[in-house]
Amino acid sequence: MRDNFPRLGERVMRRLDQLAVDTDEPGKITRLFLSPSHKLAMARVRGFMEAAGLAVEEDDIGNVVGRVESAVPDAPVFILGSHIDSVRDAGRYDGGFGVLSAIEVVEELRRRGEALPFSIEVLAFGDEEGVRFPATLSGSRALAGTFDFESLGAKDENGVSLAEALRDFGCDIDGIGEIARDPRRICGYLESHIEQGPVLEAENLALGVVTAIAGMCRFNVTVEGEAGHAGTVPMQRRKDPLAGSAAMILAVEDVARRTPQVVATVGVIESSPGAINVIPAKVRFSVDLRAPTDQVREQAKSKVEGRLREIAKERELTISFTPLDEAKATPCDPGLMRELSDALARQGHRVFTLPSGAGHDAMAMARLCPVAMLFIRCKGGVSHNPAEAITVEDAQAAIEVMLDFLLHFRPLEHQKLENSRALPESHGSRP
Ligand SMILES: [Zn+2]
Repeated sequence: MRDNFPRLGERVMRRLDQLAVDTDEPGKITRLFLSPSHKLAMARVRGFMEAAGLAVEEDDIGNVVGRVESAVPDAPVFILGSHIDSVRDAGRYDGGFGVLSAIEVVEELRRRGEALPFSIEVLAFGDEEGVRFPATLSGSRALAGTFDFESLGAKDENGVSLAEALRDFGCDIDGIGEIARDPRRICGYLESHIEQGPVLEAENLALGVVTAIAGMCRFNVTVEGEAGHAGTVPMQRRKDPLAGSAAMILAVEDVARRTPQVVATVGVIESSPGAINVIPAKVRFSVDLRAPTDQVREQAKSKVEGRLREIAKERELTISFTPLDEAKATPCDPGLMRELSDALARQGHRVFTLPSGAGHDAMAMARLCPVAMLFIRCKGGVSHNPAEAITVEDAQAAIEVMLDFLLHFRPLEHQKLENSRALPESHGSRP
């Protein structure tokens, strides 16, 4: 294998550069779901898949599906993949790496004449970022049989509904239900993805095994006090909800800092009436809190609420919480994680595990089959940004580990786990 170094990595990097040409905005990478550039990217990915010997179909939700059959009759299917849509002004590796590295793996298996006891499908999902419509993971949800048909009425900023956009794209809405796979036929899903964070780089590691995709809760906090004149109300008599909110925001940060693996962010704050010479009457701010397990997230959330209520009480302010969104954590499959870790060790890597703070198609796929994710180091942890970067050596290493994983994977050993698997709930978390 080392004699090939880094042939596969070089080809995947070249193909990622080619894919980056398909954009809705010249000079940037912007590839929204069901846009003209999504169509172009699908055709390009189809070409790569066909060159790798995959039989290719495009389904009715805009996924590209490449398939290579096992010689074993009635063999189950292992799915590899990620997404080819992007945020606005994106980098070229988020999503694309997972799709194109999977194609690379299949092409190399074929070149070596390897016969596996399972068929392989490579999926290029089209709607992971959820930028165009107020819906997300449409492609992977359709596969998992959890597509939300009500989301067909969701509209983009031009008033075009998801249903209309699908029809204009050439998709048949009546065909979406048929995309769902039979869970008894699918033995696993592996997604390789850039880390989108700085942890692997800090550990000086190319690759890591994802333990879980963090769950998340979002809520608004409304704090009310007493408006008054900025010049006449003495400091001791004030009930200032904005000064109170400042203390509360620091408390949110403090709880997250003291709780391992919890991250919490206040991203929006509104003060009213919002005048320079008026003590505010009311403040509203948002909280986004994430953790790799539901228990840790719920504990952190109640700790935050408790601290905020205390601050409100001390300052004689009223406080209320409005839930906005909640998504349970998606644990990766322990069996697949172990096998992926074994593949890393066999390939000479230190085995390192980490949670994913961002959402991925694997969240939806976990409703269908056991899932695993392989993270690849990205420069500075930067993503959703043109500065996103990975190295050819790391790309090669990821492909080698995926190859090793598939060559050792035996689907029968996983089937007995199939019915005992807990199905994570999903409530439309945004990546
Ligand atoms: Zn992604």
